[in-house]
Amino acid sequence: MTTFDQLGLSSQVLKAIEQLGFEKPTDIQKEAIPVLLSADRDFIGLAQTGTGKTAAFGLPLLELLDADNPNTQGLILAPTRELGQQIAEQIELYSKYLKRVNVLAVYGGASIVVQMKALKKPRHVIIATPGRLLDLIRRKAVNLEQLQYLILDEADEMVNMGFKEELDEILKHTPDEKITWLFSATMPKEIKHIVNNYMDNPYEIQINREDRVNTNIAHQYVQVENKTKRDALMRFMDIDPEMRCVVFCRTRNDTQELAEALARKKYNADALHGDLSQAQRDKVMGRFKNHQLDILVATDVAARGIDVNDLTHVFHYSLPDEAQYYTHRSGRTARAGKTGTSIAFVNSRDVRKLKFLAKDLQIDFEQVLIPNSDAIESVRIEKWCIDVLAKHPKSNLDEELLSKALMIFGNLSKEELVAKLVARELEKVNTGDSKDLNQDFHKVQTEHRSKRRARGRGRGGRGRGDRDRNRSGNFKGKSKGGRGGSYNKSKRRKD
Ligand code: ADP
Ligand code: MG
Repeated sequence: MTTFDQLGLSSQVLKAIEQLGFEKPTDIQKEAIPVLLSADRDFIGLAQTGTGKTAAFGLPLLELLDADNPNTQGLILAPTRELGQQIAEQIELYSKYLKRVNVLAVYGGASIVVQMKALKKPRHVIIATPGRLLDLIRRKAVNLEQLQYLILDEADEMVNMGFKEELDEILKHTPDEKITWLFSATMPKEIKHIVNNYMDNPYEIQINREDRVNTNIAHQYVQVENKTKRDALMRFMDIDPEMRCVVFCRTRNDTQELAEALARKKYNADALHGDLSQAQRDKVMGRFKNHQLDILVATDVAARGIDVNDLTHVFHYSLPDEAQYYTHRSGRTARAGKTGTSIAFVNSRDVRKLKFLAKDLQIDFEQVLIPNSDAIESVRIEKWCIDVLAKHPKSNLDEELLSKALMIFGNLSKEELVAKLVARELEKVNTGDSKDLNQDFHKVQTEHRSKRRARGRGRGGRGRGDRDRNRSGNFKGKSKGGRGGSYNKSKRRKD
């Protein structure tokens, strides 16, 4: 087993990562760190999301900097503000014992004046989003003439967001001799432009290409027409009140509307999208990270790279246009060795897309049903029973209190008492109405059949309880095959 201290890192950095609880390097860290520390050349690192790419470039970068040199030596470009902030937070933590190293994140949506002031101090590393950096360069607030290391993080997303021109412009202000490291989850052909134009014979490391979708994720889909999606989503939440999830929508509008609808129904949800101010976005992310918020409804771009390690679920409220987005989205769950569930909402027109995803990403999607009220009640009461069983009463439970309760309940049989307790517990369970929401889809699918038969098919299955419980005898969508390409080349909107 490779350990961090075999990678050539200094004791200060080792101490910092030990305190972060990093026990052993991830695959990309194991492979990349020694190369980046010693090989003086361009580098491409490809590994799926959640595999620790930030430390894979952050740790060697910190080691290679010269703290005595006040010039900006490292520049990390990230596609979104949230990502930039997260990288900065991580780098701050890794450099805890490198007291003289100064790092600064600059991004749009925050005061440029404050950032210009902060840039007056020596900054060994700048983490930036392309638009804001360009603005700062034009105002001569940043000097990249002595830059030694340029890091392009989430390069695929950078290209998707149309930052090509900004990149071209930024790079004109950097010296030719610098070394460029490119990190990405995927390698779409658009990145080739960057590689061909800005990189010189890069050393390439690719982790787990054959297995690029995280195997700790259970991939599920549910057939649901658009008009039923909201209710269906709420049913999934009702069956599992401990759920912490991101719900992906396609547009900012959908995102906002869905979050508001959920909040109206008292679900602990809020929206994250590009129409919000930076302060609003920071606030939402902060609440989500602190567990004050359980449900984050987000656009792909706004949620990109969100590093929250304890999500139980990802919902694809609408399917993404490209396979790599599916991977990015579902990669928000099952991070840092945990397991998670990705549930795709598929309407009758999406079936083709789902088949494409299955083939391209080599995923066996499992079909689940929208939980009906019976399933919700049954799963919730079962969980409640297990919780009660696991409860150990305090040994110093007041005897008088206990005998009082026993006296009051004294005339009830065990059956009667349990019935009352269950009824009381059920009052807390939100089941929506008793309609089987799976019916709608069956009707569409079986239009040519007799009505009675269509109704008969809507069996009251459960969508999910917990991961073991949830294999409710549904068929699996199986397909294997090649990869690459996308079923929809339409341009994604910038967010
Ligand atoms: P990526 O950029 O590949 O999506 P991140 O760098 O954001 O992944 O890392 C994902 C999470 O894993 C972060 O919370 C990070 O702190 C954690 N992490 C990174 N490396 C390790 C490690 N070696 N051991 C444990 N956790 C790690
Ligand atoms: Mg990352």
